[in-house]
This record gives sequence, structure tokens and C-alpha cells, in this order.
Amino acid sequence: MKQPVVDIGECTLCEGCIEVCPSVFFVNHMGYIEVAELAVYPEPMVDEAIKYCPEDCISWEEILT
Ligand code: SF4
Repeated sequence: MKQPVVDIGECTLCEGCIEVCPSVFFVNHMGYIEVAELAVYPEPMVDEAIKYCPEDCISWEEILT
């Protein structure tokens, strides 16, 4: 099982990831990009967001279930 993570320190809030993959990425109440908690992530769309991110700050992280 893996989930996308965003390196907030590098993120410039361009919102490109939200445009490409709105079911996963959103701006939280603190004004930062956050990853929605989903049982399964739409891999092709997340991969697209990773490609699209100008700061290269989205990556996959393996999580233990
Ligand atoms: S595409 Fe990258 S830099 Fe742009 S808002 Fe998303 S995580 Fe931040």
C-alpha cells in the first residue's frame, strides 16, 4: 500500500496537483496542500500530478497496513 505525500517546505501552492488530481489533493484550512485519506489512490492521476508538479515535491510513500 502506498500513498502520495507532499513536501510542504518545497510547495509553492501553484495548485497544479489539484487541477490534475482534485480527488486527492486539496488546500487545507491552514492554507497548505494536503493529501486526502483514501483507501485506494488513483495511481495514474497521482503520477500525472507528480510529473506536473514544478517543484518535484510530491512523492509516493510506502505505508504499512
Ligand atoms: S503541484 Fe506541487 S508545487 Fe504545485 S501546489 Fe501541488 S504540490 Fe505544491
